[in-house]
Amino acid sequence: MNIFDAAIILAGLAAAAGFLFAWVVRAPRKARPDAERIDALLPQTQCGRCGFSACRPYAEAIVRGEADINQCPPGGDSGVRALARLLGHKPKPLNPKHGTPPQQPSVAWIDETACIGCTRCIQACPVDAILGAAKQMHTVIRSECTGCELCIEPCPVNCIHMRALPEDARAHPPRSQNPLLAIWRHGARSQGQDRHKADRARERYQHRIARLAREHHERRQRQDRKNPMPPRDLDGIDKKAVIQAALEQARRRQAAMASKRKTATGTRSQ
Ligand code: SF4
Ligand code: SF4
Ligand code: SF4
Repeated sequence: MNIFDAAIILAGLAAAAGFLFAWVVRAPRKARPDAERIDALLPQTQCGRCGFSACRPYAEAIVRGEADINQCPPGGDSGVRALARLLGHKPKPLNPKHGTPPQQPSVAWIDETACIGCTRCIQACPVDAILGAAKQMHTVIRSECTGCELCIEPCPVNCIHMRALPEDARAHPPRSQNPLLAIWRHGARSQGQDRHKADRARERYQHRIARLAREHHERRQRQDRKNPMPPRDLDGIDKKAVIQAALEQARRRQAAMASKRKTATGTRSQ
């Protein structure tokens, strides 16, 4: 075999490997879908229009076969096609029951002169994109707002409005992102969706969920410290000990009240 033959064989092998790689990447994936890969294709607006509380629960419902692929208006028809491709389904039109895709990217804006600082919008925002404190004016972090509109309805003075995002403020995926790597990770190209912003929104949503869980846990701990009474359902626990603790607590309270009364009487009689 001369060097020329060896070069031809090597070129043939390289071409075969290239075809194989392209087939693996582009072939519709009929294998069992997983929620992470589905969630990676959703726009992460976290608006709940699909009928679930956020994008990830919708993805999990698709995996369980409890939701269809055409329920996400922010994802639009391109989102449905991306899901169909990932799951090996036939694309279908967006289900109008869940609404229509937004005409253009928009973000919330707060009329700060009218805001009364009630914090209801902060509680409603799924990605913590609103800054403010009780009785203080609130403002939206424009770059983090997903345009979900969930803050509009709770505002008691109607001072939150949606405004179109100017073209120059629309974020785009980083240029360095390797498209082949993106296909490998997500199973399909995201069509018309801003993956970079979506990834940030997912991260902020996950942080919020973790923060709420932590705050709930801390509240429970504070309540338990304040009121060490056991739960009402006494099945399976030491009822005697519970009654004993309650009696002890009542005794302590009575003693404290008696001591206060004694002090007050002493003060009056002086
Ligand atoms: S963007 Fe809204 S409608 Fe689409 S999956 Fe997420 S929560 Fe559901
Ligand atoms: S500021 Fe309003 S519209 Fe923007 S993400 Fe938060 S809740 Fe949604
Ligand atoms: S809900 Fe409205 S009034 Fe209340 S803090 Fe938000 S913007 Fe201000």
